[in-house]
Amino acid sequence: MTNGRVVFLDRDGVINEEVGYLNHLDRLRLLPRSAEGIALLNHAGWRAVVVTNQSGVATGYFPESFLAEVHAEIQRRLEAAGARVDAFYYCPHHPTIGEPPYRCACDCRKPRTGLLRRAAADLDLRLEGSCIISDRYRDLTMAAEIGATGILVLTGYGTGEYTWWRQSRGWAAQHVAQDLLQAVRWFLERQAQQPQSAHHFSGRGPR
Ligand SMILES: [Mg+2]
Ligand SMILES: [Zn+2]
Repeated sequence: MTNGRVVFLDRDGVINEEVGYLNHLDRLRLLPRSAEGIALLNHAGWRAVVVTNQSGVATGYFPESFLAEVHAEIQRRLEAAGARVDAFYYCPHHPTIGEPPYRCACDCRKPRTGLLRRAAADLDLRLEGSCIISDRYRDLTMAAEIGATGILVLTGYGTGEYTWWRQSRGWAAQHVAQDLLQAVRWFLERQAQQPQSAHHFSGRGPR
C-alpha cells in the first residue's frame, strides 16, 4: 500500500558521459550536474533507480562483474557530492550477439519494461506516476506503457535523438531538458502543481 515514488534514470549519457562502451574505470566521468539532480530526488523523497542496457557483457567488451565496480564507483562519487542512487538495474543481454546465457531474447532489455517491473517488485515502487529520464528516445517509449512521465535529456545521445525523432517519427517525450538536473527540477515542480495522483483521490465520495 505504501508503494514508493520512483524516478528511473538511464546511466550512460544521463548520469555519466556516454563513451560508447564504458569498459574501464578510467573512462568514467560523471556529468557536471547529475549529482545535484539526484540529490534533489533524494531530498524530495523520490527513489532514484538506474536502469541501463549493458549489452557489452553479451558482446564481450567487459565481464558482468565489471558492472558492479562501475556502479560502486558511480555511487562513491555521487555520495562524495551528497547524492545517492537507491539501486542499479542492468540488462547484460543481447538478442543476437555473444553466447548464452547472455545471448537471449530477454524481457529486460529496454525498451522492454522488465527492469522497471523488477525494481518495482523488489523495492515496492509504484510504476504509475513514476518518471523515466533518458538520453535515448527508445527508453521514453516505455513511459506510456507504465503510466510514467518521459523526459529526454540533451546530454549523451540526446541532442541527436531529439533532432532525428522530431523530424522523422512520432514524439513520445513529454519534456526535453538540458540535463538531469533540469529534468528533475521540471518533474518535481510539475508534481508540486498537480495532485499526487488520481489514486489518492479515488476513495472520495459521500461520507
Ligand atoms: Mg544513455
Ligand atoms: Zn536483458
